[in-house]
Amino acid sequence: MSLIILGSVAFDALETPFGKTDKIVGGAASYAALTASYLYNNVKIISVVGGDFGSENLSKFSQRHIDISGIQVKNEEKSFFWSGKYHNDMNSRDTLITELNVLENFDPIIPASYQDAEYILLGNLSPQVQLAALERLHKRPKLVVLDTMNFWMDIAMEDLKKVLKKIDVLTINDEEARQLSGQYSLVKAAETILKMGPSHLIIKKGEHGALLFGENQLFAAPALPLADVFDPTGAGDTFAGGFIGYLAQAKTINFEYMKSAVIYGSALASYCVEKFGTERLENLTLAEIKNRVSLFSNLTSFNI
Ligand code: AMP
Repeated sequence: MSLIILGSVAFDALETPFGKTDKIVGGAASYAALTASYLYNNVKIISVVGGDFGSENLSKFSQRHIDISGIQVKNEEKSFFWSGKYHNDMNSRDTLITELNVLENFDPIIPASYQDAEYILLGNLSPQVQLAALERLHKRPKLVVLDTMNFWMDIAMEDLKKVLKKIDVLTINDEEARQLSGQYSLVKAAETILKMGPSHLIIKKGEHGALLFGENQLFAAPALPLADVFDPTGAGDTFAGGFIGYLAQAKTINFEYMKSAVIYGSALASYCVEKFGTERLENLTLAEIKNRVSLFSNLTSFNI
C-alpha cells in the first residue's frame, strides 16, 4: 500500500519583498511529497527531470524515504523552470518565466512497484497527464485527490472536465473555483463543481483559510495568522500533500477525517511559508507539526 504523488519536480527562482533566490528545488510534487512523508511512510513520486537536476537534489527525497523510481531523468534535456515575483501583500504574484522543458512531452511511467497504491494526489500538471497517470494504474486507488490551477482552465478546460469525472477530492483556490463554475458565490460555485464529478471540494483562500464541501456538509478552517510570511510558494501543494498524507495514515476516509486532514494540511502549509522554497519542509519534526495542529485547535475553540 502506498501514496503516489504526481506533479512537477522543478527548479524555481523566487523573488519576495524579503529576498531573491537563484534556481532552487521547487515543483508541486516536491512540496507535496516532502510534506506527506512526515505523515505517511510509503510516499512515491511520479515526475520527470532533466540531466541538470542532479543526484544531490534527488537525494532530498531519498533522505525522507520517498520512492523516486517513478521520476524519469532525461539526461539530454532541462528540468521544468518557473520563476515568480511576489507583490508586497504576498498574496498576489506575477509569473515571470515558465519553461516547460521536460514537461512539454511528459509521458508518465508507472513502475510496477507503484501499482498497489491506495492513494494518489494528481498534482498540478496538464489534465491529459493527470488522466494518463490515473488510467495507467491497474486498480483505481481508493482516494484520488486532484490539484489544478487557472493556467489549465485557460488552455485545457475540456480535458480538465474529463479528469474531474474520475476523482474524489478537488483542491483549488477561490478564484479558480469561480472560474471553473462561473459562479461568484463560493457556496454556489461548490454546488456546481460537486456536480462535475468530485464528491468533495476544498476551496483554499490563502491567508483566510480553507473551506471543505461534501456529503451535504461544510467545514471552515482558518489559516494560522503568522507574523512573517517569507515565501508563499508551494503553500497549496504543501496543503494537498498534508491533506492526503493525513488520510493515508488514518486509513479512513469520511468527512470527519477530512476535517482533520484539512487542519494538518493548513498546519504544514504554515511551516512551508516560513522559509524560501522547500527548505522548511526538509527538516520538520513530528513534535513541531503536532504543536502547530494544537495551535489551530486553540485558535477556533470557544464556549457559548
Ligand atoms: P503554488 O505556489 O502552490 O502555486 O506552487 C508553486 C509551484 O508550482 C512551483 O514550485 C512551480 O515549480 C510549480 N508550477 C508552477 N507552474 C506550474 C505548471 N504550469 N505546471 C506544473 N508546475 C507548476
